[in-house]
Amino acid sequence: MTPVSMKPQLFDTHCHLTWKESGDSAENQWREARESGVTSMTTIGIGLPDSLRARELSRSFEGVHATVGIHPNDLGPREELPTLLADLAAHARSGGWAGIGETGLDFYRDWCAADIQFEGLQAHLALASELGLPVVLHCRDAGKELLSELNNFNQPFSGVMHCFSDGPERLDDFLALGLHISFAGNLTYPNASPLRDAALRVPEERLLIETDAPFLAPQPVRGKRNRPSWVRHTFDALVELRKADPTELASSLYRNAETLFGCSKSAN
Ligand SMILES: [Zn+2]
Ligand SMILES: [Zn+2]
Repeated sequence: MTPVSMKPQLFDTHCHLTWKESGDSAENQWREARESGVTSMTTIGIGLPDSLRARELSRSFEGVHATVGIHPNDLGPREELPTLLADLAAHARSGGWAGIGETGLDFYRDWCAADIQFEGLQAHLALASELGLPVVLHCRDAGKELLSELNNFNQPFSGVMHCFSDGPERLDDFLALGLHISFAGNLTYPNASPLRDAALRVPEERLLIETDAPFLAPQPVRGKRNRPSWVRHTFDALVELRKADPTELASSLYRNAETLFGCSKSAN
């Protein structure tokens, strides 16, 4: 067995340390991750109070970064949207963020009408562009529509397709936008061949890994509440899939995450 100190350092680019029902404290998950060599993680905001908790964590725990955003399913009723998006902008401009999101489109659930989701997405994109921060994009059953929105957005932006779940068909279009592509634990599932085909085709400098904890636990721990330390299962799957040197791939993935989120690795 490889000692922890020899394991390549990993960066979980998308987790929800603030999730109330995650079954364990953020501090425990952070400590376990750091001890297992997952030295950095980005905890992603899905609403405003949640984003502020994420920023608190980023200020308390080394290697934790936070984003501010409102999940496309949580944008609420139309009459409250202008106030909500104005509050989002105020918080985003107050600083201390590594990114904007998660935002995007989710037509798998119908909690928020499509027109509300489109408006939410545009507001997040505008902030990401204004503040020079990457946008964290969530997409479920809406690949075509999301691509069209992104292609029509007329200001420069950077960002990541989080928990990429499409096959290779739309991959080139997302790459053409300059986006990074992040793979989660579902890469390890037996029926995920199209996803693995996609993961093989992403250029190394655009690849990222994530847990989306507490969701989507990888195959070896499937069914449990996911934890940032388990990003290593997705990393191992990627090493095997791409026939990569683990040390080299880990350092590329880490560097990609640092570059995207504008943070630098701590000394140890
Ligand atoms: Zn998501
Ligand atoms: Zn998420």
